[in-house]
Amino acid sequence: MPRAPLYCDVSLPVPLDQSFTYGLPETLRHRVQPGCRVLAPFGTRTLTGLVLKTHSDPPQAALRDILRLLDEEPALDAELLQLGKWIADFYCAPLGETLRAMTPLAGEIRRGKVYSLTKSGRDVARQLHLGSDQADDPIATALRMLDARPLSASYLKQKIQNGAAVMKSLEKKGFVEAEDVAAERDPLRASAERLRIEFITRAEKLPKAERELLSYLELHPGSHNLGEVEAFVTKASTAARSLARKQLVRLTIEAMAENHGPIRSPHALNPQQQAAFDCIRAALDSQKYRTFLLQGVTGSGKTEVYLNAIEATLALGRSALMLVPEIGLTPAVAGQFYQRFPKRVAILHSAFNDNERAQEWRRIRSGEAAVVVATRSGVFAPVSNLGLIIVDEEHDQSYKQQETPRYHGRDVAVMRAHHAGAVVVLGSATPSLESRYNTESGKYTLLELPQRIERRPMPQVELIDMRQEFLETRKHATFSRGLIDAVTARLANGEQSMLLLNRRGFSSFVACRACGERVECANCSVTLTYHRRERRMLCHYCNYSERVPERCPKCDSEYIQFMGLGSERVEAELNGAFPKARIARLDRDAINGKRDYEIILAGFRDGDYDILVGTQMIAKGHDIPNVTLVGIVSADVGLGLPDFRAAERTFQLLTQAGGRAGRGETPGIVLIQTINPDHYAIQCAAAQDYQAFYEKEIHFRRSLNYPPFAALANIIIQGRDEEEALSRSAALGRVLQPAPEGIRVMGPAAAAMARIKNEYRFQMLLKAATRKRLNQVVGDLRRFATAGKWNPTSLIIDVDPMTLL
Ligand code: ADP
Ligand code: ZN
Ligand code: ZN
Repeated sequence: MPRAPLYCDVSLPVPLDQSFTYGLPETLRHRVQPGCRVLAPFGTRTLTGLVLKTHSDPPQAALRDILRLLDEEPALDAELLQLGKWIADFYCAPLGETLRAMTPLAGEIRRGKVYSLTKSGRDVARQLHLGSDQADDPIATALRMLDARPLSASYLKQKIQNGAAVMKSLEKKGFVEAEDVAAERDPLRASAERLRIEFITRAEKLPKAERELLSYLELHPGSHNLGEVEAFVTKASTAARSLARKQLVRLTIEAMAENHGPIRSPHALNPQQQAAFDCIRAALDSQKYRTFLLQGVTGSGKTEVYLNAIEATLALGRSALMLVPEIGLTPAVAGQFYQRFPKRVAILHSAFNDNERAQEWRRIRSGEAAVVVATRSGVFAPVSNLGLIIVDEEHDQSYKQQETPRYHGRDVAVMRAHHAGAVVVLGSATPSLESRYNTESGKYTLLELPQRIERRPMPQVELIDMRQEFLETRKHATFSRGLIDAVTARLANGEQSMLLLNRRGFSSFVACRACGERVECANCSVTLTYHRRERRMLCHYCNYSERVPERCPKCDSEYIQFMGLGSERVEAELNGAFPKARIARLDRDAINGKRDYEIILAGFRDGDYDILVGTQMIAKGHDIPNVTLVGIVSADVGLGLPDFRAAERTFQLLTQAGGRAGRGETPGIVLIQTINPDHYAIQCAAAQDYQAFYEKEIHFRRSLNYPPFAALANIIIQGRDEEEALSRSAALGRVLQPAPEGIRVMGPAAAAMARIKNEYRFQMLLKAATRKRLNQVVGDLRRFATAGKWNPTSLIIDVDPMTLL
């Protein structure tokens, strides 16, 4: 055996740019490896950290020891550790926090109180061992148990009579000390429906329910869904958990149900799909890094190309990872993968609970699942022998993480593939300006699917000028006459319609007609949204709520008025216009989590509803053949935002929403209501002309020096004390004066959202000619804040921001 290392360097989730050296207790020396998680003392706390390396270089100062090893196998392999370092560097995020974000298995760990013996406690325990056995004394029992290893407060409470009081008195006597640490969570908290149960062995003297369950399982070998077993055995769920703790049965969490979605046999690729696939396959065969942009209009059959590419990857004995946007991972999508690659698929979704995710993580690591379908953080899945990464809807904003580390899943995917020698396929009907520009500069290779499957026509798009509508009708109607007529025609034909409202258009607010004052949140500089059901006004940022005032808080007039649309009002108007229609609503207020969302969508797909009304949620990726009308109620909401991506986002939204129409045999139409019918984003979306939009937009980006022509970082300085935040932002501004070479600094100034959750916010925008420059300068800012001992939450660094709001 090689000589065991004596120390390890650990990265801790603290906002400091350094690792910490700890001693390795004798028992751990051969077991701790780089990438393993450990519990380490830090000040008065105990933290979960990740081992970066082990060594025997004697340290300068006295050391503390690692308390516990959490993984027998590394949670992050060498490749992912390297990726983590790249992310920390590129996005200017502390390494410890980055690594923690990469290990979702951290979810198995929960904070809690853990007791261990003090030195005098240990002496007493030793004497107890030597002395006669006083098994009934709870104090002696506790000491003896703790002599073996530290134990959680909740466990002791269970095992020891009067546990809480006993521990308190031991603590008072100085025999034990309590620490607030990460304790392991019971892995069996999933609901019965999600669990599989299997017989291990028989046992004597069990309570009735457990006895019955165990003999049922013995008589029915193999693994069963616990939810189904409950129909045969009473109290099966509780009994199962108890039996699992006694290690008489095995409980595992089921992979996501494998029977969703319509059965479809693989399609033979059409010539365009084939041509795209051939290019991808050639790259896969060469086993070298390469990135493709698969630009295919909506309904061009990109998914079929992905599936073929994954098949080819598996045939080479390698694994494939496919990323989808947050909202894109519906059971229908998952179903296609389960069907095509039975037993080889793992799904990682942020709506899964920790246990479910941990379970899938293990299947991936063991190699059982070689096809991984995942949302953003799945880019860190422990896939070995990675051959292919697909990023579907690569333009989607949900790939950007909105908290530290603020990485972009797509860009991390490209870097990961680069390290692994894998092929990347970025797919979209409306590629981000960055990706499309990369095909022009030769960094990526463009593959195009310019036509819909079976030459189905692109939807016919019409703009409805709402200014004209008002002039003619003299009414501020939500729905134009044209849109009403179109929906009516669909109802008559038994076809379905989708109506899209922007989130902002969906909300209503309260304003004073006399002075124009809007009622704002007490903590944030945003207008409160009126919710009719509770008759209260609510802040969507911080959940603050208040009653609707009877008089204007500013001018005391009584003329308080409701403005904006409001989803409920939209629904009411629709019910008025189409009393017989069956209408479903899909927005954040109407649904309650992922399952609701799926139920409503599935119901719409099955034809239970005629009209689906919703926010952005309904614009993405759904393939519902019977939808022949898509109505955009207001195309303008996003255009006015002070954000350089406003036009791009509007174009993408309108084009994607339009793409939902006419995906079946019957052609579809799209009606866009707007007061800006001449804006190029709206014009190009109406013409379904990406190329024209790209040329206009890239010109604008070039002339104003925005991405992809500059590297951008958005710096937010925030704090509860307005004066302090202001002076800090000024100080940070002075660090960049005169502006360093190759950098343009805008601000500091009050942020567009000047206050959120009672934090005053100031903003600075940096544009740099090169990444390297940007990185150096942002690093300088961070060091300045660290040197000034700023609270880590008071400086937000967003490299490659998706939004400047
Ligand atoms: P996209 O993701 O590009 O918008 P999809 O992958 O959803 O398009 O494909 C649109 C529809 O066309 C799907 O119903 C799919 O099953 C079908 N399809 C894909 N490829 C073929 C093909 N070669 N022949 C027939 N139908 C196909
Ligand atoms: Zn007023
Ligand atoms: Zn608020």
